[in-house]
Amino acid sequence: MDTDTKLCQGKDIFERMNYLYQASYLMALKNRVVASYYGNIMIGCGKKSVLRIESDIKRTLCKCCQSPLIPGETAKVRLVSKPVKCVKWTCLTCLSVKRFPTKKGYKLWTEQPASTNQIFNYRSKLKDGKPNIVIEENNLCKDK
Ligand SMILES: [Zn+2]
Repeated sequence: MDTDTKLCQGKDIFERMNYLYQASYLMALKNRVVASYYGNIMIGCGKKSVLRIESDIKRTLCKCCQSPLIPGETAKVRLVSKPVKCVKWTCLTCLSVKRFPTKKGYKLWTEQPASTNQIFNYRSKLKDGKPNIVIEENNLCKDK
């Protein structure tokens, strides 16, 4: 087993999910059924291998039909003030609605610096064939 796979569990699955996400986005305006199908496979890959999808990416997929939500193209985005201030996303494929509350100063856990423990930076291999991996330790937790 090489160092790449040791350090990043499920790297091949992440690469496949990335490919499917990009394919889904490309097909969104041409064929919505195919775009939804790719999104569905992507979610299935993540579920089967128990890998988390970044919340920013997860929010761009419809919870109901898994098609990509592109503002103005496949989704209608509106600011709503009642009952609570939120951003309302309406999928134009299946007409399902997602609401994201907007609270001043609120950050998701993944956006907070304390949530990051280690950053693996995978770059293309060096000329001598050795993998070029940079590991950055996050010392923000220790400062507090
Ligand atoms: Zn939908």
